[in-house]
Amino acid sequence: MNVLVINCGSSSLKYQILDMENETLLCKGLVERIGMDGSVITHEKIGMDKVKKEVPMKDHKDAIKQVLDAVQNAEYGVVSSMADIGAVGHRVVHAGEKFAESVLIDEKVIAALEECVELAPLHNTPNLYGIAACQELMPDTPMVAVFDTAFHQTMPPESYIYAIPYEYYEKYGIRRYGFHGTSHKYVAQRAASMLNVNINDLKLITCHLGNGASVSAIKHGRCIDTSMGFTPLEGLVMGTRSGDIDPAIVTYIRQKENLPQGAVNEILNKKSGVLGISGVSSDFRDLEEAVAEGNARAALALRVFAKKVRFYIGAYIAEMNGVDAIVFTAGVGENDMNMRELICTDLGNLGIKLDLIKNKIRGKETVISTEDSKVKLLLIPTNEELMIARDTYNIAQKSAK
Ligand code: ADP
Repeated sequence: MNVLVINCGSSSLKYQILDMENETLLCKGLVERIGMDGSVITHEKIGMDKVKKEVPMKDHKDAIKQVLDAVQNAEYGVVSSMADIGAVGHRVVHAGEKFAESVLIDEKVIAALEECVELAPLHNTPNLYGIAACQELMPDTPMVAVFDTAFHQTMPPESYIYAIPYEYYEKYGIRRYGFHGTSHKYVAQRAASMLNVNINDLKLITCHLGNGASVSAIKHGRCIDTSMGFTPLEGLVMGTRSGDIDPAIVTYIRQKENLPQGAVNEILNKKSGVLGISGVSSDFRDLEEAVAEGNARAALALRVFAKKVRFYIGAYIAEMNGVDAIVFTAGVGENDMNMRELICTDLGNLGIKLDLIKNKIRGKETVISTEDSKVKLLLIPTNEELMIARDTYNIAQKSAK
C-alpha cells in the first residue's frame, strides 16, 4: 500500500509518499507561500532531480490539488492514479487529552479536533484545513490522524499537573501536554532495536534538538515526562523560544515596555532562545561561525542551551532512577557534534562518556559513547513521516477488514 503523508502548516505543506510493503520513500515535496503571492511547489521523485513549479494557490485545497497532480505526473510522479494511494496520514499537532493514539478520521474525530483548536490555533487550524481538503479531493481514501501530543499521554499526573489552582486544569485543560511525540517515539523504538534490547526493559532519555527542542524520559516504552508543556514554549532553550523562565517576567516586561496584549508571548516565542541571547541567529551553524569570529554572546547562547539540556538529562535520570541510553536527534542533535560534546562533557560520574572520535559524525545512526560508558549515547536521525506512515498503514489495513 502507498501512503501519502501530509504535514500542513499555516502557509506551507510538506508531503511524502511511501510504499509500505517495504517502507520505501517514493517521493517528497514542499509547498510554500500558500495563500500568498509566489506560491510554489517543489517536488522530488527519489532518484530524480527536484522539480519546482510556481503556481497560484489561494488555499490548502489548491495546494493539495497541486500535490496530487505532481504525484500522478507522467514524468516525475510515482502513482498512476488516485486509486494507487491507499491511505493518507495527517500530522496533527494537538489532541489535548482526547487521543493517546493515532486514529482513523471520521466526523467524531474532526469534531474532537475542532475542540482542540483553542489549545493550538496556529497548528491545529491548518492541520484541519489539510484534512478537509483531502476529504474533498479523495473522498474514498481512508485518512488517519497522527498526533504530536499522543505519545506523552502516558505521563502520570505529577508530571503534567501545574501547581496553579486545580480548577484551571478542570475548566480550561491547562496542564502539560508535550510535543514532538512522534519523533520521541520513533527514536525510542530505533534505540531499542540498535541496542537489541526490548524497549520494555529500557530507561531512555531522548533529546529532540531542532529549531524547536524537547527532551523526554521514556521508562519501559512509556513516556513519563517531557520538557514541553501546555504549549511548545516550555522547557529547553530553543532557536527562538525562551523555554522555562520565571513567569513573573511576562508581566514585568509588558509593564516596562508598555506592550499590548500578546506582545510578550510573541517575544518569548519568536525573539528569544539562542537568537535572543546572541542577537545573531537562531541557526546553530551561524552561531558557531560567530563564535569562531570571537562573538561572546553567541558563545554564551550555546552554553545556556547546553546547560538546559544537561539540566533535563539530570532531572530525568533522577526521575527514572538511572538511564540506559541517551538519544540525540533532529537538526542540532543529528548534525552538531560541538553541541553534543558541550552537553556530554564531564558527566563521567553518571556513567556517561562521549567518544570524541565516534562523535565526529552527522546524520547517521551510530553509538557515540565510549566502550566503557555505562550509559549508551546514540545518534539517531528522526523520521516522523515514516512513523506517521506506519500508523496510517496499520490503521487503514485494520479498518479495511
Ligand atoms: P525544525 O524541524 O524544528 O524546524 P530541524 O530539526 O530541522 O528543525 O533543525 C533545524 C536546526 O538544526 C537549524 O536551525 C540549525 O540550528 C540546526 N542545524 C542543521 N544542520 C546543522 C549543522 N550542520 N550544524 C549545526 N546545526 C545544524
